[in-house]
Amino acid sequence: MKAAILPAQDSPLETHDDVELAEPGPGEVRVKVVASGVCHSDLSVQNGTIPLPTPIVLGHEGAGIVEAVGEGVTKVAVGDHVVLSFVPACGECYTCKHGQPFLCEQSNSSATGGMLDGTTRLSRGGAPLFQMAALGTYGEYAIVPEISMVKIPDDVPLHVAALIGCGVLTGVGAALNTAEIQEGDSVAVIGCGGVGLNVIQGAKIAGASRIIAVDRFDSKLEMAREFGATDTVNAGDTDAVIEIMGLTEGRGADVVFEVIGLGPTIEQAINATRKGGEVVLVGVPRMDVMVNLNAAFTWLYLAKTIKGCWYGSSNVYEDVPKLLDLWKQGSLKLEELISKEITVDEVNEAFADMQAGTVARSVIRHAHAD
Ligand SMILES: [Zn+2]
Ligand SMILES: [Zn+2]
Repeated sequence: MKAAILPAQDSPLETHDDVELAEPGPGEVRVKVVASGVCHSDLSVQNGTIPLPTPIVLGHEGAGIVEAVGEGVTKVAVGDHVVLSFVPACGECYTCKHGQPFLCEQSNSSATGGMLDGTTRLSRGGAPLFQMAALGTYGEYAIVPEISMVKIPDDVPLHVAALIGCGVLTGVGAALNTAEIQEGDSVAVIGCGGVGLNVIQGAKIAGASRIIAVDRFDSKLEMAREFGATDTVNAGDTDAVIEIMGLTEGRGADVVFEVIGLGPTIEQAINATRKGGEVVLVGVPRMDVMVNLNAAFTWLYLAKTIKGCWYGSSNVYEDVPKLLDLWKQGSLKLEELISKEITVDEVNEAFADMQAGTVARSVIRHAHAD
């Protein structure tokens, strides 16, 4: 099969059509990947922000059709349409049973670049190929744990459903699950890429009345307005904290989301939050990013809450159907997130577009020539 492979850190992706798949093992499923989003976290593997072994088939945001199931698979059957989830959720472990399936203990294996047991089902020329997040949606097919997918109705277009698997669950989930946005709240979102736009539309659904979008690209701020931002701040021209203060009667926003993952923007997010307000950290930092905070004036006197947000604090089995309902009602924009539809051969250009800030999402449609 054909797949886009990252051969080594800091290298361009290469597309090859001689990638081999093993048969699905117990609890595993072969999925024909119909579409895959190109997410900033794929780029983060390329540049080493997220360290994973190489060579690896990237892609962790996809949707497709179940083609074959391994022994003991009960959650899905051949022919089912599924959204893939980059975090498995087993429903049985400590965190799953404590209402935090986004931290499922089975997901600890994802750092290995393999399946739940740490081994991979992909190879090329006899050498193993790793698969991002136990998925690898830049391949035409993927062997995936059955606990890494959610069955969806057949009438949902798969290129639209694909985006739910990372960007939408993370961004909308940050606003609806992680944060406690009250009707009429002021919200600021620092970083308006694919996930940031979803935080913005989530904040709108949650009832925020003022949504301040902050980014350095005017192109992204324009998109932010389409997704519900009421105000925009170009952080390249101005001090974002002062601007947010000015838009919130000098108080700071009720809830501020950081969706970049840099130390300075995390500090901005904390400083732009009103006393008693909430900071939600969504961006993916490099492993060596540290934040230095004043204890008295962050927590004690100003009583701010800083929350980490992994995967939108989602329960995928509940949230995927909920998000699809919101989409059917017209409250959630999905098609509008797709700036470009591309082939898997164009993925390097899609990475360049993402860095230039010109796209919300590029979506790969696999051709399945074989
Ligand atoms: Zn992602
Ligand atoms: Zn679990």
